[in-house]
Amino acid sequence: MLRQLGRLISCKDASRAISQMQDGSVPLPLYLRIRLHLLWCEACKRFEQQMRFLHQAMRRYRQ
Ligand SMILES: [Zn+2]
Repeated sequence: MLRQLGRLISCKDASRAISQMQDGSVPLPLYLRIRLHLLWCEACKRFEQQMRFLHQAMRRYRQ
């Protein structure tokens, strides 16, 4: 059931939304679908971790 919900979003959409998530500009329903997608999709999970790492590194650099 959860897996089916997660699959409503494609990896392409997921990765685009993941990069938007770093700016906090993603509506909650989309955010929840991404989180579900990340539960089963290893590739996007890795991508999300990388984006988060990059974003944190960038923020540290700016301060
Ligand atoms: Zn994916």
